[in-house]
Amino acid sequence: MSAETRSAWYVASFRDHDTHEGVYVPATGQVHGRCGARFRPVPVGWPPRPGPLPGKPPDPGQICHACYRAALVDGRADQ
Ligand SMILES: [Zn+2]
Repeated sequence: MSAETRSAWYVASFRDHDTHEGVYVPATGQVHGRCGARFRPVPVGWPPRPGPLPGKPPDPGQICHACYRAALVDGRADQ
């Protein structure tokens, strides 16, 4: 495991296109998304915990368009 800060996918809500790629900031408990969104991530998985997702969201319809494009630009969309 690397200690470097890296972005991952976090669920802001279960609405369409409301899963964002960003960095979790423990001091505020918020995720700072690539698209500028600031939100408290929704707990996911079992047991539920506030993200990140283990990989890309399984449903493309959940992904924030702006965050997805930013990931493409970085060549990291497959992570
Ligand atoms: Zn976003």
